[in-house]
Amino acid sequence: MKESDPFLHTAAWKRARRAALERDHYKCRDCMDRYLAGYGAKPRDAAMVHHIIPRDQRPDLALDLDNLISLCDECHNKRHPEKGRQAHTPAPKHGMRVIKI
Ligand SMILES: [Zn+2]
Ligand SMILES: [Zn+2]
Repeated sequence: MKESDPFLHTAAWKRARRAALERDHYKCRDCMDRYLAGYGAKPRDAAMVHHIIPRDQRPDLALDLDNLISLCDECHNKRHPEKGRQAHTPAPKHGMRVIKI
């Protein structure tokens, strides 16, 4: 997700993002799951709201609360293995497309 993405500056996204953060009590959901499962440290504060199904696959779910999850930086990076270890190397676009027949 690029900071320059115009979507991230829309009022609709800011509303959805805030609603997701409030639902998750501004805590990282992945940390919370580990914590509640009995392992892992106390949940960290959420640093961003992540789309479970990426926006380029399901733009219609971009503002759907069920598709949003509050995460800390660390857990967010884990959810983006495509970004790899070198954070500043842009990942090549995969040619995965849903083709309607
Ligand atoms: Zn976390
Ligand atoms: Zn993300």
